[in-house]
Amino acid sequence: MSTTLIKGGTVVSATGRVAADVLVDGARIVAVLEPGSTALGHDLASTVDAVIDATGKYVIPGGIDAHTHMQLPFGGTFASDTFETGTAAAAWGGTTSIIDFAVQRTGEKVQDGLAHWHELAAGNCHVDYGFHQIIGGVDEDSLAALPKLIDEGITSFKMFMAYPGVFYSDDAQILKAMQISADTGLMTMMHAENGPVIDVLAEQLVKQGKIEPYYHGIARAWQAEEEATHRAIMLSHLTGAPLYVVHVSAKQAVAQLATARDNGQNVFGETCPQYLYMSLEEQLGAMSDEWGGFEGAKYVCSTPLRSREEGHQDHMWQALRTNDLQMVSTDHCPFCMKDQKELGKGDFRAIPNGIGSIEHRMDLMYQGVVTGQITLERWVELTSTTPARMFGLYGTKGVIQPGADADIVVYDPNGHTSIGVDKTHHMNMDHSAWEGYEIDGHVDVVISRGTVLVSDGEFHGTKGHGSFLKRGLSQYLI
Ligand SMILES: [Zn+2]
Repeated sequence: MSTTLIKGGTVVSATGRVAADVLVDGARIVAVLEPGSTALGHDLASTVDAVIDATGKYVIPGGIDAHTHMQLPFGGTFASDTFETGTAAAAWGGTTSIIDFAVQRTGEKVQDGLAHWHELAAGNCHVDYGFHQIIGGVDEDSLAALPKLIDEGITSFKMFMAYPGVFYSDDAQILKAMQISADTGLMTMMHAENGPVIDVLAEQLVKQGKIEPYYHGIARAWQAEEEATHRAIMLSHLTGAPLYVVHVSAKQAVAQLATARDNGQNVFGETCPQYLYMSLEEQLGAMSDEWGGFEGAKYVCSTPLRSREEGHQDHMWQALRTNDLQMVSTDHCPFCMKDQKELGKGDFRAIPNGIGSIEHRMDLMYQGVVTGQITLERWVELTSTTPARMFGLYGTKGVIQPGADADIVVYDPNGHTSIGVDKTHHMNMDHSAWEGYEIDGHVDVVISRGTVLVSDGEFHGTKGHGSFLKRGLSQYLI
């Protein structure tokens, strides 16, 4: 086992910051010490195997992205990042754990869907990975399978109030699954959009010749998100199921979550970088250009981008400050323009839904620190500590303390990162919705369980280093 001292930096946690040296032995953090401490009987820097100089930099727990979709089948194609490429991009961006969504498709056994996801990921990941389970068909069989997931280290499952005919669950199905969630402590995750309503609106738009990507966002009106969020909250209240609403983008949906939390419900929500930075107006503006009026396709995701004029983006930042929203994940679901997004030329409904962001989440959220939207501590909390607690990884992940995995990022606040396909981008995509974003800050060193994956602008990782994370129940529940 080799030892490493990360020296001279500022260790940032969810609760504060302190000048400290971090001692790593093998895969674990073994001590957090006063700078230059000789308490262990000697000058550590001269006796450890390696020293990483973090002077002037932040030393933070590795990012945890709790919402990714590697290789997801969607609309006749597959998300373009494999577990190998997607987790390499994650590492480049300072994310050392992901929680991906194993898929049970309608008619498939939950166990079979899960086994397939293990096959896809095993031996291919650069960073540690866990799974949530998508339940695409709630029936007696899948309901019986739910409690057994806990022993498998999968303590959360997602249902969809959107996508009728694909992943959709109706209220009766949701109720039954939530009853199991309430009984077992499994976290119910919800894609909260009223799918049947959206499908009608989308069909009407297409009949009127409104086929461009922009109309994706018009069809997926905020009322459909607010309504579904409210309904999910009511069903959670009725059953007692803990509820986690994914990719919240409408301020009205946030208000529903805030009310439920004020009422004492175990209800939580995440948003994603795209809902903090991008808008429906930008998507409208992208209707005419190099992709032949189709550039807006790069912004097609669900929930959709919202109107800046209506103030959703500012409201998301505020909700992150007030803890009405608890986390930021990416919903990383990349598709190339060529042969993938292009499937929807002529009908926005056929554009695969998703934006690739796994590589940029830590940087993009750090901009909130730079602009004064969130504190340094909140940055760590939103991107690492709360994801760990929410999904049963805390103590091992999400914190820099003795006994925790040595998942550590050295972040340089004086560095700079230019996002672009040709510059910094390692995701398997032929474009980036984040093209041209200039970041104040830079991911300098990335360590996963004591192994340096990224340093000096070079990648040192090997696929297969990432291990499956058996998660416990949420540590966020009372
Ligand atoms: Zn998703």
